[in-house]
Amino acid sequence: MNIVKPKLHCPYCGKSFSLELEESVNEDDLIEECPLCGSPIDIRLVMDPEKGLVGAEAHRVDGDTDE
Ligand SMILES: [Zn+2]
Repeated sequence: MNIVKPKLHCPYCGKSFSLELEESVNEDDLIEECPLCGSPIDIRLVMDPEKGLVGAEAHRVDGDTDE
């Protein structure tokens, strides 16, 4: 089982960190705490139909509306 470590930027403190995820993760939206400031981050996984998990995006859990 492969581990993917996408780099994320915390939307609260702006620091970057890597997240360890199993490539076979079957969720595409999860909440993780920032390891640096402890804020809850809405993490949306970027899935490729052929390659599987290719990355992740970090969003604020409150008020960050997109599309
Ligand atoms: Zn942070």
